[in-house]
Amino acid sequence: MAEKRDYYEVLGLQKGASEAEIKSAFRKMAMKYHPDRNPDDKEAEEKFKEVNEAYSILSDPDKKSKYDKFGHAGVDPNAGFGGGGGFGGFGGFEDIFGDIFGGGGFGGFGGFGGGRGANRNGPRKGSDLQRRMDITFEEAAFGTKKEIRLTKNVVCDECNGTGAEKGTDKKTCPVCGGRGTVQSVQNTPFGQFATQTTCNRCGGTGQIIEKPCSKCSGSGKVRKTVTITVDIPAGVDTDSVIPIRGQGEPGVNGGPAGDLYLVLNVLPHNLFKRQGDDLWLDMPITFAQAALGDEIIVPTLSDKVTYKIPAGTQPDTVFRLRGKGIKNHRTGRPGDLYVKVDLEVPTKLDSKQKKLIRELGEALDGECYQKKKSFGEKLRDLFD
Ligand SMILES: [Zn+2]
Ligand SMILES: [Zn+2]
Repeated sequence: MAEKRDYYEVLGLQKGASEAEIKSAFRKMAMKYHPDRNPDDKEAEEKFKEVNEAYSILSDPDKKSKYDKFGHAGVDPNAGFGGGGGFGGFGGFEDIFGDIFGGGGFGGFGGFGGGRGANRNGPRKGSDLQRRMDITFEEAAFGTKKEIRLTKNVVCDECNGTGAEKGTDKKTCPVCGGRGTVQSVQNTPFGQFATQTTCNRCGGTGQIIEKPCSKCSGSGKVRKTVTITVDIPAGVDTDSVIPIRGQGEPGVNGGPAGDLYLVLNVLPHNLFKRQGDDLWLDMPITFAQAALGDEIIVPTLSDKVTYKIPAGTQPDTVFRLRGKGIKNHRTGRPGDLYVKVDLEVPTKLDSKQKKLIRELGEALDGECYQKKKSFGEKLRDLFD
């Protein structure tokens, strides 16, 4: 047997990692290499075994302390394999990860849709699909109805998904006798044990088709472009997910279809920026407006409002217009619109304009410039 890797290294951890870190690293690794996600991948299978072995030692306080002191020599090298049982002592995919995904909602999101559990002949939910979709800033703010065109597998309407030509029947698989699995005995350094594998002849269904459906060649599925109308609620944002039940891949053996998850991407607006439910707007203001105050017209996403800016408004001042943001799609409460003053210094002055500004500059004394005045005083203190 090749030299064993350090158990901490196997889990991608430093020595002295906490119980929580070990648990979390194990989950991550086990999920990555789990045979359900890596069918027929020998290397992943080896990694999975290695990860399990490392975890079985590091999660047991007694074995962990022995391993910390003596390394591999301190612990039983076979401990992680549970003797002749192979993966016997180890729960299924769902058992380990059930609590991560909360046993519902997005359970099938990562691509492990349905298909778990021992009975491969039973009805299984079809795989979930995921699509990204662009929507405009306003569509996200106010909600919209969208049509999406999607090319996916649907149940073959010729054979109703059975895969058998109309009027013909399926028959029991002669290789596995209808069980869907075959047994093989493996010799390993830890003893001899039996494993069950999916029957190659029938693909685990236990039945074979004598005369395949001419439309779907026996797969029970055909590719089809479908148009689906989706309601996008007001207030969604980039990475919001809209679940559309039953629009994923068709189910297997009469199981329900998977779901389609639409992941939204909101396109930028040329005036507004969004932060959660709030909107931000940079509003150019002239020197005269800022100095004298003015009533300005502020655009919002839906209309225009007048807003009085006070005399002496400084650059980068932010005004808040309550309730002029985006309606929260859960609470329905609107965010606010923040208007940031972008004080614009005039450019491209002609000689008459320059003359007037020069005169104005001379007319404005220290009392008009409070910041400049206070800065001057601090400067004097510095050099006194
Ligand atoms: Zn068919
Ligand atoms: Zn079979």
